[in-house]
Amino acid sequence: MKLDRKVKLLLVLVISIALTSSIYLYINSSKQYEEIPYKLFLTHVEKGLVDEIELSDRAKITGKLKNGESFITDNPRTEDFKEFLLLYNINVKEVDKSGVLGQGISFILLLAGIGVVAYLVNSNNSKQAEKEMTNMSKMDTESPLSNRITFNDVAGNEEAKESLKELIDFIKNPDKYNKYGARLPRGILLYGPPGTGKTLLAKALAGEAKVPFYAVSGSDFIQVYAGLGASRIRELFKEAKESGKSVIFIDEIDSLGKKRKGANAQGGSEEGDRTLNALLTEMSGFKGNEGIIVMAATNRIDTLDEALLRPGRFDRQIEVGLPDVNAREAILKLHSKNKPISKNVDLKQIALETIYFSGAKLENLMNESAMIAAKKRDKYITMEHINKAYFTVLVGEEKKDRSSISLEDKKITAYHEAGHALVAKKLSKLNRVTKVSIIPSTKGMGGFSLNIPPDKMYQTKRDIITNIMIALGGRAAEEIIFGKDNITTGASSDLQKATEMTLSMIGSYGMDEEVGLINYDVILNSNLETDISLMERSKEILEKFYTETKEILKENRKYLDSIAGKLLDKESLIEEEINEILAS
Ligand code: ADP
Ligand code: ZN
Repeated sequence: MKLDRKVKLLLVLVISIALTSSIYLYINSSKQYEEIPYKLFLTHVEKGLVDEIELSDRAKITGKLKNGESFITDNPRTEDFKEFLLLYNINVKEVDKSGVLGQGISFILLLAGIGVVAYLVNSNNSKQAEKEMTNMSKMDTESPLSNRITFNDVAGNEEAKESLKELIDFIKNPDKYNKYGARLPRGILLYGPPGTGKTLLAKALAGEAKVPFYAVSGSDFIQVYAGLGASRIRELFKEAKESGKSVIFIDEIDSLGKKRKGANAQGGSEEGDRTLNALLTEMSGFKGNEGIIVMAATNRIDTLDEALLRPGRFDRQIEVGLPDVNAREAILKLHSKNKPISKNVDLKQIALETIYFSGAKLENLMNESAMIAAKKRDKYITMEHINKAYFTVLVGEEKKDRSSISLEDKKITAYHEAGHALVAKKLSKLNRVTKVSIIPSTKGMGGFSLNIPPDKMYQTKRDIITNIMIALGGRAAEEIIFGKDNITTGASSDLQKATEMTLSMIGSYGMDEEVGLINYDVILNSNLETDISLMERSKEILEKFYTETKEILKENRKYLDSIAGKLLDKESLIEEEINEILAS
């Protein structure tokens, strides 16, 4: 549409007047109301903070908190909304439609006006980028004073919470650390499956330290105009610095900092690189002790560009894993607070039946249950509602019988992990197995047995053999317990590790008498002909160690059974618990 300049000006004028008056109308009608996101509203409801709602069929609803503040938020306009409110003991006032109409019309006028003006302004194409910029500038800043999230809002994740708690003091009293020349940790990377509370933890850190929280998501930067991502990052840091101390949170950092493979990165885009570089520059630009903490989250630490993980960048990495049964119970408890839960609800039992559920899924489960109870106008949320919600939450996921939910899988994983742990413990007193779990982690397939070999500068041949046998322990346990035909794919990464270690041992470190001192890397690099003897020899060695590993496990079958049994019960064991079993 081509408009003559005069007409355009006139249009702008007319619309401006309409706009001003509609804004006036709109503001007037909702003057003292603070607009809050619907989600926050739900949280308020759950926490029992809402006193009263003025219900109508307009797009927005208004209400009052118990502390007297008025707010406005989206109207879900669902049939059972009223019941839902009543269930939470909220006063519901039905509002007459006349006032509503005026407000509705002015609101529509306002929107239409904005739309047309935006269109006119944007008929000039170079302005498009500017618009994008303002859109993106609306970052998610939590008001520091209201609705503060603390570590009490995070259940489970104890290790992650512990490491973060140390930082509170860094942020609060940077001067104290300045005096000693200590440098504030700059970047903290939280990694783990979606919905495990990474964002929540970051918010809690800001909440505990009582500083503002700035959040952006890496995925916001994927399709932006050239150079915009970088300036956006600079702006974010500028704003954070101006506010003094703060927590900056970058969600989905993997979409910014994907590993660059080869010269022409397939994963990262040029724009992504520019944005990432801006981020790294900003991070190294810190003098150090301003009390600003940059946090990032990812579900996929393995795909991250190493540049991000170097010292002075996101050099602190904290795993945020799926909750085990105890943590699940704690999370369920947290999200049942302020919900009218019936006495017959056994949260412990629900925790047992929700293996592999993330915190977000558990929250979702309790929320669905509340919705179902509200719909039925039942006084309390009962086990029946929760059972129903369970299936709603699992919609679209592989259907499994609930009580026997992958019990077979659990058992296999338990024995597999017990195998690793037991071999580690039996081969050397110095081997530490800090944690064994049947909850999958980002690093392992089924679960993990974190095994920290004793600190030393060199690895001996014995150390390498020990590690090979620990790696083989999982498969060996599977074979002993379930038989040769029932071994699983769960050992694939173990076998990869074992093969790598064996090959280095004999091909690089000259630790096998038969192969001798020859280094096969050199030979391969010199394009000399190689025979397959190295592979043959590795196979022989692996088989020998595998037999030995099985021997160890068979001799200690009693411990294997009790570790696996305990794992089935508790889902994760710490070192002391393993030691206890071994001492029995
Ligand atoms: P992530 O950032 O890891 O994807 P979030 O922090 O966004 O996960 O979690 C989403 C929601 O799930 C949270 O707002 C909270 O309601 C719930 N949740 C997740 N983990 C926990 C937890 N450990 N304790 C309590 N609630 C949790
Ligand atoms: Zn394994």
